[in-house]
This record gives sequence, structure tokens and C-alpha cells, in this order.
Amino acid sequence: MGLKITNECIKCGACELECPNKAIYEDESRYFIVSEKCTECIGNPCVKVCPMNCINKRNNEKK
Ligand code: SF4
Ligand code: SF4
Repeated sequence: MGLKITNECIKCGACELECPNKAIYEDESRYFIVSEKCTECIGNPCVKVCPMNCINKRNNEKK
């Protein structure tokens, strides 16, 4: 499933550098995680470095 990045992202770029699977990319307005590439790796380093706390688990999302 992978994690997701919310709109609070300020595009600091920290998470992209931490991802061992290169699952994080930059968009025009924010960064995003390619769910097929995110293995929810041990420790979730992307979550730890995010200053905005805007990387979350995907919980039974409807959309
Ligand atoms: S949980 Fe791991 S694999 Fe998934 S985006 Fe974050 S750093 Fe990358
Ligand atoms: S670390 Fe957080 S604020 Fe920085 S680019 Fe990644 S998701 Fe956005």
C-alpha cells in the first residue's frame, strides 16, 4: 500500500533523500509517494525526517 504525503508538504525535499526505494518524487505543488514502490520500509525514515509531519499511512481511504 505504501504511505502518502498530504497537502501540508512544504517541498523541503528531506524525505526524498531518505527513501531507500526511491519511491518519493516531486510534483508541482508537493512531493508524492509512488505506492507501488513504497515498501513501508523499517523505521519509515521519510516520516521521521518530515518537518511538517505530513507523511501518513493510508488508512482505508475511500478515494
Ligand atoms: S516508508 Fe520507506 S519506502 Fe516508503 S516512502 Fe518512506 S522511506 Fe520510502
Ligand atoms: S519531508 Fe515532508 S515537507 Fe519535506 S518534502 Fe517530504 S513530505 Fe514534504
